Amino acid sequence: MIPVVALVGRPNVGKSTLFNRLTRTRDALVADFPGLTRDRKYGKAELEEHEFIVIDTGGIDGSEEGVETKMAEQSLAAIEEADVVLFLVDGRAGLTAADEAIAKHLRSREKPTFLVVNKIDGIDGDSACAEFWQLGVDAMYQIAAAQNRGVTALMERALAPFAENLKAKEAEGEESDEVQIEDLTSVEDIEKANLSEADAEAAYKRLQEQPIKLAIIGRPNVGKSTLTNRILGEERVVVFDMPGTTRDSIYIPMERDGQEYVLIDTAGIRRRKNMHQAVEKFSVIQTLKAVEDANVVLLVIDARENISDQDLSLLGFALNAGRSLVIAVNKWDGLDNEVKERVKSELDRRLGFVDFARIHFISALHGTGVGHLYESVQEAYQSATKRISTSMLTRILQMAQDDHQPPMIRGRRVKLKYAHAGGYNPPIIVIHGNLVNELPGSYKRYLMNYYRKSLEMMGTPIRIQFQNSE
Ligand code: GDP
Ligand code: GDP
Repeated sequence: MIPVVALVGRPNVGKSTLFNRLTRTRDALVADFPGLTRDRKYGKAELEEHEFIVIDTGGIDGSEEGVETKMAEQSLAAIEEADVVLFLVDGRAGLTAADEAIAKHLRSREKPTFLVVNKIDGIDGDSACAEFWQLGVDAMYQIAAAQNRGVTALMERALAPFAENLKAKEAEGEESDEVQIEDLTSVEDIEKANLSEADAEAAYKRLQEQPIKLAIIGRPNVGKSTLTNRILGEERVVVFDMPGTTRDSIYIPMERDGQEYVLIDTAGIRRRKNMHQAVEKFSVIQTLKAVEDANVVLLVIDARENISDQDLSLLGFALNAGRSLVIAVNKWDGLDNEVKERVKSELDRRLGFVDFARIHFISALHGTGVGHLYESVQEAYQSATKRISTSMLTRILQMAQDDHQPPMIRGRRVKLKYAHAGGYNPPIIVIHGNLVNELPGSYKRYLMNYYRKSLEMMGTPIRIQFQNSE
């Protein structure tokens, strides 16, 4: 499971500066979707070979009244659920009462905690650090987040235990020098394995027969538990039990119409003794992890509420992770036509940029429309795991240009020569040609849609990259 790193500290010590440093490469992906609010608090980060979720806990001000009461609920929850805490202090401002209050709280949590002294640019780091030893920590790390100094070294240390897990796993895999097709459980694995054409074909076929991991996500009260219960209560569904921990989402294997699924239940319904027991506290981190682990994300939205920033940031998690997506607009029962029209036009206006995702109008309470969700989930999964060969991509590129020629740029015709797959999940198509950097956005969108239609790819984002070759 992907590790979670929480950034903790009083205001102004540089948490969001460090957050931006760590998540910067990821922002590029989100930027492909104009209209998406960027959640500055949660992000997926990649550093060298490490991947992790980073949380800026923001809300802590650690005032004299006692840090406990002052901490926002989600910030506290973030610390509880984090695997590693980076406790930031300001090397220029020196030790403050707020730092001490936070340190006291963290000591009681017994989490792996790294004390990070920030802003050591242009000052003597060692003497700036001296007074922070009073906080009773074992080790201290000096960084200048704004200059990206010391950040990589710090993260290497903080994530070392997780990297070891990774290495152990890899070593396990290397023992047998022959790659087993059964062991290839993702498109990435298959591509990395360098198989013969026939073996790759077989591996892809197998992959498409795997259970689909489906995460049902949404903000509190949209109807996730009602929907999960509806799905599990259906007679055509065969449910298997699988033990889970109380910290993570519950994984529920099930089968319907010959297709196996694993439901990733973020609402925690199976953990409750009965339906009337209190709903689990909503956890953003749990949702993030579920999204990372899923093949397909089912985002549930409440038709009776306006689309909120929280809906959009959950959507952002899914897009960021490159997951396939299906949207369910729930509580569609008993709405009059005028309201329905209004909801639809709001969806168009605010979610128009995710035009690849199927939208279903359902009632989890009455079961209306729920059966059709499976079709879209399967379609989204098939699209995301589909193999796309260079010859096919190049042929489609040719057809797209025959139907609609690229424009002239400064009297020269743009020629797009060939295309190949540059990655999966989300699928990336790399197009080679001349003058591609000057290709107008409208033609890029035309190509994207042409590929989407030709490859019948619904439910998954596709990215197109261009490479200039004169
Ligand atoms: P937060 O409130 O903890 O999220 O702090 P911010 O990231 O907003 O940073 C507070 C201020 O400190 C901003 O003006 C930053 O530009 C500044 N800052 C952050 N990191 C550094 C650093 O490494 N060196 C210096 N000199 N200033 C920094
Ligand atoms: P969760 O927090 O997302 O798991 O939401 P719940 O499943 O607990 O549902 C929250 C409330 O919405 C409950 O009172 C449900 O009865 C109600 N609800 C859920 N689905 C529907 C629906 O399709 N139609 C209507 N009218 N109410 C629903």
